[in-house]
Amino acid sequence: MSGAEQATAPGSAATTILPEGRLAAEVEAATGEPVNRCFGCKKCTGGCPVSMHMDLVPHRVIRLIQLGQRETVLNSSTVWICASCRACEARCPNDINIAHVMDYLKGRILAAGGRVAESKVYDFHRSFLNTVGLYGRAHEITMIGMYKMRSRTYFDDLAMGGRMLARGRLPILPEIIRGRGQIRRIFRRAAELARSGRAGGEGTGDRR
Ligand code: SF4
Ligand code: SF4
Repeated sequence: MSGAEQATAPGSAATTILPEGRLAAEVEAATGEPVNRCFGCKKCTGGCPVSMHMDLVPHRVIRLIQLGQRETVLNSSTVWICASCRACEARCPNDINIAHVMDYLKGRILAAGGRVAESKVYDFHRSFLNTVGLYGRAHEITMIGMYKMRSRTYFDDLAMGGRMLARGRLPILPEIIRGRGQIRRIFRRAAELARSGRAGGEGTGDRR
């Protein structure tokens, strides 16, 4: 058993979860988000624009954190599907910033070398950040190339890409900003914080 203790009554198939508070305490200490204040009103889930794509809806993630169900939470796709729009925070009567909690959980998964439930989302994040690290801003063609190499989705959406190119929606050459040194310093600082465990720290580097 890990996380919360689980007990099965003799002769019964029902499983009782005995709450264990270490995960909630860890999340609260690392993020400052008061997850233990959540009383399950579900307003976060009601306002989440991508909850239909999640295996665990937002209020369930918070409840499972309260219960100490570490493995279920860290293996869930929700952590990666969350679009960080913060609509849940705006609706939450307890001011819980669930996007912040999700970022922390992503960092925990990566730091532990755990399984990334939505690898394409992670591939996309890294490709975007790599492009910003190179040019100081996003460049779609570079980003798409990196993403396709990582995700091995070479032939997906080729027709749409061709149409966008033909309409001039995908600039061939990147715009390179002048302050790239500052951007690199930001990335270096983020990597240092990630190494020291003071940030979620997805960074721009390859993990695989
Ligand atoms: S921040 Fe994430 S969990 Fe919250 S509403 Fe937006 S997508 Fe949903
Ligand atoms: S809106 Fe806030 S209090 Fe309500 S279920 Fe979501 S996290 Fe909990």
